[in-house]
Amino acid sequence: MAIDAHEIRNWLEAECPVEMRAATRGDEDVCWGGRRWAFQSPAQKLWFERCLARGFTVPTWPREYGGAGLSRDEADVLYAEMRRIGARPPLTSFGISMLGPALLAFGTPAQKAEHLPRIALGQIRWCQGYSEPGAGSDLASLATRAEDKGDHFLVNGQKIWTSYADKADWIFCLVRTNRDAKKQLGISFVLIDMATPGVSTRPIVLISGKSPFCETFFDDVAVPKGNLVGKLDRGWDVAKYLLTHEREMIAGGGSNLFDSHALDKAAAQVRPKDPILRAKIAEAAVDTYAFDATRRRYSDEVARGGELGARSALLKYDGAELNKRRHELAMSLAGADGLYFDGNREPGVAEGWLRSKGNSIEGGTSEVMLDIVAKRLLDLPAD
Ligand SMILES: Cc1cc2nc3c(=O)[nH]c(=O)nc-3n(C[C@H](O)[C@H](O)[C@H](O)COP(=O)(O)OP(=O)(O)OC[C@H]3O[C@@H](n4cnc5c(N)ncnc54)[C@H](O)[C@@H]3O)c2cc1C
Repeated sequence: MAIDAHEIRNWLEAECPVEMRAATRGDEDVCWGGRRWAFQSPAQKLWFERCLARGFTVPTWPREYGGAGLSRDEADVLYAEMRRIGARPPLTSFGISMLGPALLAFGTPAQKAEHLPRIALGQIRWCQGYSEPGAGSDLASLATRAEDKGDHFLVNGQKIWTSYADKADWIFCLVRTNRDAKKQLGISFVLIDMATPGVSTRPIVLISGKSPFCETFFDDVAVPKGNLVGKLDRGWDVAKYLLTHEREMIAGGGSNLFDSHALDKAAAQVRPKDPILRAKIAEAAVDTYAFDATRRRYSDEVARGGELGARSALLKYDGAELNKRRHELAMSLAGADGLYFDGNREPGVAEGWLRSKGNSIEGGTSEVMLDIVAKRLLDLPAD
């Protein structure tokens, strides 16, 4: 193993600033990177730079693209040590968790050389242009079209629920390139610079007053042919592969919240005479260990060769539902203080609880995940 757990533990103890060892209280504490990014604190900058120097912004990517070249097992050691001290991820982005893996699998050498290092360095922030007003769960119904104009595509259409489109520099996008072919067979996967003339975004304001989502519009947007990832009309293969990574990422989203240390701490704080809450903490612990065991088993299977494929739907379903239960529990533990939305008595508890509701929708709903598990993993009849 190229990674030494003791060395990593010592390195983290020495190099991770104390301020970066606290749970994030919301988006404002997350380091997203991008052309317009400004670090929120000197500690955030320092932590990012120290991790960058070791390839830890993208630990499993090859060194030539800015990674540390770690295997999944080795990266698990790093993540476990980071969780142990509550270290925040040095950089978070859809480039890391979604586009990067897809480019590593489907990108040309030129595309990898252009985009992967800029993701690892936190220079470019990506957003995801999949969903459309008429294409959510039934994604293959998407209608944004790209016409062949010789050296470029001309893109017209609309996306919706594009998280952080107004803050992103580039978008990876599904477009229809063939209207005669069967739905899935006429889709292509393209990369579009958001600064291209004709791209515009409109934030969707939510009841909370915040607007993490946008509508994204394409009006006669010229996209160079070199920005096509994978084969023309076969973007569905790229899209599905990317979704397995997105689902794995969402499934693991709450792993920091109730790792064994946090659970021990929570259990110690709960009054011994509160049997219901104690039982719920124990239940969450057992569910977390069971989820983690399944995740590790899949990880081992992938490490021996092969892809996660439809198993990502099971992880996504279980992880999303588990995360929602854990946030319910965090609300119960916080008691009345958890109801504070502003102020800092229990920062982030209510926001985290509300945000967790989206886990079972984003990246494919829980109902659709169960559908995939039934058909693809359990081989149950379709109708
Ligand atoms: C927090 C969050 C972030 C998101 N970020 C992005 C983003 O960055 N980019 C992007 O492109 N999209 C994004 N989305 C959109 C997301 O991918 C879609 O919301 C999701 O795919 C569901 O599509 P829909 O909203 O159109 O719901 P619908 O597909 O209309 O579904 C409505 C309901 O019907 C159910 N349903 C639909 N089909 C079936 C079926 N076959 N069997 C059983 N039940 C079914 C669903 O489970 C759901 O309960 C995000 C969503 C959320 C919540």
